[in-house]
Amino acid sequence: MQFKPTRAEGLARLATFTQYAGKAYQERRNFDIDASQVSAVSQLSPWLRHRLISEQEVLTSARNQHSLEAAIPYVQQVFWRGYFKGWLEQHPTVWQSYKSQLAKAQQNLSHGYAEATAGQTGILCFDHWCHALKNDGYMHNHARLWFASIWIFTLKLPWELGAAFFLEHLHDGDPASNTLSWRWVAGLHTKGKNYVASADNIEKFTDGRFRPTGQLAQAPAPLVENEEHLFVPFEPAQNEPNKPHLLVITEEDCLSSFEVDPRFSGVLGLVSPEASHFAKTAVQNTVSKLGGDTYVGHHWSKEITLAAQNAQTSKVITPYIPVGHVSDGMAVAANTLKGHGIDLTMSTRAYDIQVWPNATKGFFKLKKKIPSILEALNIG
Ligand SMILES: Cc1cc2nc3c(=O)[nH]c(=O)nc-3n(C[C@H](O)[C@H](O)[C@H](O)COP(=O)(O)OP(=O)(O)OC[C@H]3O[C@@H](n4cnc5c(N)ncnc54)[C@H](O)[C@@H]3O)c2cc1C
Repeated sequence: MQFKPTRAEGLARLATFTQYAGKAYQERRNFDIDASQVSAVSQLSPWLRHRLISEQEVLTSARNQHSLEAAIPYVQQVFWRGYFKGWLEQHPTVWQSYKSQLAKAQQNLSHGYAEATAGQTGILCFDHWCHALKNDGYMHNHARLWFASIWIFTLKLPWELGAAFFLEHLHDGDPASNTLSWRWVAGLHTKGKNYVASADNIEKFTDGRFRPTGQLAQAPAPLVENEEHLFVPFEPAQNEPNKPHLLVITEEDCLSSFEVDPRFSGVLGLVSPEASHFAKTAVQNTVSKLGGDTYVGHHWSKEITLAAQNAQTSKVITPYIPVGHVSDGMAVAANTLKGHGIDLTMSTRAYDIQVWPNATKGFFKLKKKIPSILEALNIG
């Protein structure tokens, strides 16, 4: 599967996949099959991650072709993304703690880490997924679970290093889905409940391609942490001011550039040099369509100030930037911009406003709300 970072490609993939979003997805979604076969999952995550297409579009497309009953396994998976986004947004110290623990772990990289990231552990399936991740920038959900479980419990490596390894190579690398999934496998998200990969399960769901009998940790204990992560309720950012403005596009949401309103008087793309190739190109492609430029670097406040001056406005609007690397970068820039009299506003999508406040505890609470959220958003 080629992952081309354009909206047209995401929409084409969505159009091809949606017919399978019912029974076929339900029956085969857990199978990580050979790359030569047609995948039962959508592989839409890179486009969703960078909002080249939106959850709302994906859900609408699914509901237009399937009853809610038939499409519910797929619909629920799409809601997992919003669940993780909302949960991290409301527990921001999890992200800060991940970053500081990662920095510590990176100071002392072991031989085991070198073997794991080179795909040379001797555990055939793990080594295969490692090479595939590096080559394709994508990994099936079930393989991600097995990989993370083997990393943490069999290889006994710090989960933060594994999460960073994923972020480095995945086209869909996402601070919320990735960090919280690794924590979920470790037993830190649902406290005391870890995900343990087993040889039988791997054999069954890889259609017999792998069977790591005797190689995996048996009944390992979940990880524990001493830190408490306090709940901070999500408050949607302000709406867009009714004035000419500079539109800033980041890898968090490329869709706005396709929804530009007449009040926009300039556009600027911002990407950090560490962003993935998919993310960088996604922003560059979308911004250049509007005649704007994309800056790749760390001096965001300077670039925003210049672009705002060129657009003859002091109003800057960017789609909401959730917790993660981009919001860390924008927080630094925002302080300087204030001093320059530039007003940076974020606009929040209706979907996030509906979904995120329900991501306070486990997924079940959000799951119960799915029908009413779909109704509120006029989906199906
Ligand atoms: C350890 C680990 C790390 C992960 N890291 C990421 C990450 O960095 N970025 C990311 O987008 N997903 C991540 N996931 C979630 C999931 O594996 C991917 O979203 C999914 O595999 C993408 O493939 P797909 O588009 O074919 O999914 P489909 O099954 O076709 O699902 C449709 C969409 O729903 C969303 N989705 C589906 N399953 C999940 C899930 N379990 N959690 C969150 N969203 C989901 C995705 O946006 C996906 O594109 C991770 C899971 C694990 C176990």
